[in-house]
Amino acid sequence: MLFYNRFMPIRLLSPEVASQIAAGEVVERPASVVKELVENALDAGARSVDVSIRGAGRALVEVADDGKGIPADELSLAVERHATSKLQDANDLFRIDTLGFRGEALASIGSVSRMTITSRAADSQSGARIRIEAGIAGKVEPVGAPQGTVVRVEELFYNVPARLKFLKQDVTERRAIDGLLSRYALAYPQVRFRFTSDSASVLQTSGDGDRRAILASLYGVDVARQMLEVLAEEESDAGQPLRLTGYISPASLTRSNRKEITFFINGRWVSDTPLTQAILQAYHTLLMVGRFPLTALFLEIDPAEVDVNVHPAKAEVRFRSQDKVFSFVQRSVRRALLAYSPVPAMPPAQNLWGGSSVSGNQYPVSGNQFGGQGVGLEWGIAHDNLNAEGKMQNDELSAEPQENVQHSAFSNLPLLRLVGQIGASYLVAEGPDGLYLIDQHAAHERILFEKLMSQRARQNIPSQALLTPEVVQLPPASANLIHEQLPVLQKFGFDVEPFGPGAFQVRAMPVLFSGSDPAAALRALVEDFEEDEAPLQNEIEARVAGRVCKRLAVKAGQALSPEEQRALLENLEACESPRTCPHGRPTMIHLSVDVLERQFGRRGAR
Ligand code: ADP
Ligand code: MG
Repeated sequence: MLFYNRFMPIRLLSPEVASQIAAGEVVERPASVVKELVENALDAGARSVDVSIRGAGRALVEVADDGKGIPADELSLAVERHATSKLQDANDLFRIDTLGFRGEALASIGSVSRMTITSRAADSQSGARIRIEAGIAGKVEPVGAPQGTVVRVEELFYNVPARLKFLKQDVTERRAIDGLLSRYALAYPQVRFRFTSDSASVLQTSGDGDRRAILASLYGVDVARQMLEVLAEEESDAGQPLRLTGYISPASLTRSNRKEITFFINGRWVSDTPLTQAILQAYHTLLMVGRFPLTALFLEIDPAEVDVNVHPAKAEVRFRSQDKVFSFVQRSVRRALLAYSPVPAMPPAQNLWGGSSVSGNQYPVSGNQFGGQGVGLEWGIAHDNLNAEGKMQNDELSAEPQENVQHSAFSNLPLLRLVGQIGASYLVAEGPDGLYLIDQHAAHERILFEKLMSQRARQNIPSQALLTPEVVQLPPASANLIHEQLPVLQKFGFDVEPFGPGAFQVRAMPVLFSGSDPAAALRALVEDFEEDEAPLQNEIEARVAGRVCKRLAVKAGQALSPEEQRALLENLEACESPRTCPHGRPTMIHLSVDVLERQFGRRGAR
């Protein structure tokens, strides 16, 4: 039940309150302010857009552009609700070629902040400024200003405390802005974007039109290099052909969520579209369950064929012929995918049977999955002889057959006899009750994970200094994340320090991972982080550990010497939960004697 006063008469809301209510639809969080202001700049034909924020956008959002500007005599109109220069009559609604058209953004933002707009129109000699506080506009005053517009939004929601309470942690709000600007930078490669957060430069693009270069600054050079280009066009009855351009990841490069599926329709970022499904269908059978591609796709379609006026923040669209567009997107993506990356016979197919030239414990690994460079990988088992419990002493890779008896006491696996390796990916072993097929990657992941966690529990993670500290450059969003996780990394024996914008220097790694690529370890931590993840500290730790172990574990496709196969098996037997990897996938398949007999028709099946 609502606690309203039943004797309260019906009244019209004051313009301020009505305006705040309407503002809620457009301005939900600092990122929405950034979005509206950047879209205005782009609509004004800006070649350069500078965004700076303070305090995750609560204290300040400022967007400066060099677009056509707002004439002084239109300034006070610009901040009124439903005032726009982009629509004339209702028919225009069905052929919208600008990002804005509702004439609501400036009014909405002005009603929930202290906003100052300074602008000089292309053909005017001097500029003008207007200030709006909580929806009340001041006088327009002349000021000197370069051509273009600067909108300064201070103390967002200062007059709507209820809204402030709904804002997430600074990190999350900042990440939303970051994600948004990254996407706009990608969509408008001819525009020079600069993004500064609390005076630190976060993102900068050159505006030279090179999309792959922007991909590189967002995702890192390795990812950018692997992305496949999509370029498809199809005639349409509507007049303007359908065009799909942009980049998609090959099947080997995936994420654990859909957040990196970016789709723009006529220059507008649309987060919620059935076309995401079209993209996923294009990847059908090529991706493992629960894995998603990265895309930056740009659809151009006759404006008359798409309705963008479905959602106040314009985050959704509708198509006149949805099926046609759907199938066009699906076919175009599929074609690009198959043209570049034939279906792997055994994922990941790279370097199948490779790595046979073994020197010591070191394996050459094709790093294609993770970015083109070879990842030097070591077992991390050989060095780990500092454990307290005696049973762990068997970690050492040794040619001597190990005494397995005491293992089984600790383990919920029976004693296994190694038979060999198949497909450079699986170990075959025999147990008292049949055959075991063991996924070497999942198994190694489990082993590393348990070791790391048990060392952590004992507060004793041996760390080893790198001979030459390695500098890792990360995309802005990832760099932010690493910053937050630095204390966790330290607890795990990583010595990592900030090293300039977006860069980190790795000076030491856990001994368990020595020989592994420090860059791969760092990236593993941040690639799949969910936007709103703020789990409890111990969950973070387990997750961080899980990620690193996954990334640094031996891969499928690596041939192992018999000694290494045996060591892997023994280490697995010593695990507390040997049957699944830390992510819950099985490490092994068991074919019991019973099953075998039935399959071979030796026993009365059926
Ligand atoms: P809309 O973008 O839907 O038209 P806004 O409230 O965002 O509504 O902006 C109102 C008007 O102010 C725009 O139609 C445009 O004429 C003008 N305007 C806003 N921002 C800029 C800008 N950065 N450069 C030039 N004109 C702008
Ligand atoms: Mg607008």
